[in-house]
Amino acid sequence: MNFVDKQCPYCEKKTNTKDINNSFYKSSNAYLEILKKKYTSNNSISFDDFVEKNLKLVKCDECKIIFFKKWFDTETAKIIYNSRPHRVGWGSFNLFYDQSARLKNYIKRKINIFNCINSKIDKIDKYAEINCPFSGLMLLFNFAKKNYNFKLNILENLIKERSFFNDLFLKISNRIRILFLSCLLFHEKIKIKISKKNKYFEFLNQEKKFEIPLDIRLIKIENNNLSWNYNCNNMGQNCRKIFTYFENFKSVTFNEVEDESRKNNFKFDLSYLENTIDHVSDIKKTLLKLSALSQNIAIITHGIKAGPQHLYFLNEEFISNYSKLNGFRLSILTHEITSKDNNEFDNQFYLLSKLN
Ligand SMILES: [Zn+2]
Repeated sequence: MNFVDKQCPYCEKKTNTKDINNSFYKSSNAYLEILKKKYTSNNSISFDDFVEKNLKLVKCDECKIIFFKKWFDTETAKIIYNSRPHRVGWGSFNLFYDQSARLKNYIKRKINIFNCINSKIDKIDKYAEINCPFSGLMLLFNFAKKNYNFKLNILENLIKERSFFNDLFLKISNRIRILFLSCLLFHEKIKIKISKKNKYFEFLNQEKKFEIPLDIRLIKIENNNLSWNYNCNNMGQNCRKIFTYFENFKSVTFNEVEDESRKNNFKFDLSYLENTIDHVSDIKKTLLKLSALSQNIAIITHGIKAGPQHLYFLNEEFISNYSKLNGFRLSILTHEITSKDNNEFDNQFYLLSKLN
């Protein structure tokens, strides 16, 4: 585990900075657990102290972004993001897959956010998110489709996946896996037959006071080393592969939508970035592309408390500056959504609307 000097990730150069206290990281962080295991116990100071001593949190004088001026080197960052799948993302996926008791609260929270944004925008027909398919509203939109069973769809698609193995043992174990999935599918079908209707349909009908956008896209950002990407695998599949099972939801690249935008005057009514934009290596370029393609951008940030697996943190000063310089009107929705005042430590909710 090594630490290196970093320049401002937005200004992309060495800028003057002000130090920010980062001693509140003390509480153990699941994303750094893997580094802790590798940290040898014969060191004279504890892992938490070692990390705190080596990280240096600052605010850029120019763009006001908060970032680590001293952070993990590339190899260590890779270990953080490649060692296991994205906990929060797959955790959300599992809520919908298992339809566990916590799902209702999760859905309520997401609907609350979506409706708050929706009330401030004319229409949300064309909708986009970036990178992580399970952080924003994609799961909710997919789950809330009429006459649709989330788990059934996932199982049917998993069974359809073809894998090829030269090795006989792997061939057999894959057959067993398919057989096991088929049993789960059969069990799920019986369950649906018996219960006749999904217990969540009634709940969703009461709660759901929103329309699912007509055009839903997930923009993949390649060459990104602040996120899980190809290593975000569970149930034998990558998270983005699972996203392709969501019927009519499209997985696209920036190049593809930029072409479409030029040809057909295409723009997203809403680009929704919930805890995803601060997991992008190239923040300036990505924001610029999204700004050109979107009428509105919702940004939900990680607060500083979310931990040092994030190289940088967006905050009110940064977003406010960015909005002014790029022709957006800024609404700060944090209090309306969370009943907390907007602050750098916790999640913040911003809506940027293009001034015409
Ligand atoms: Zn800067």
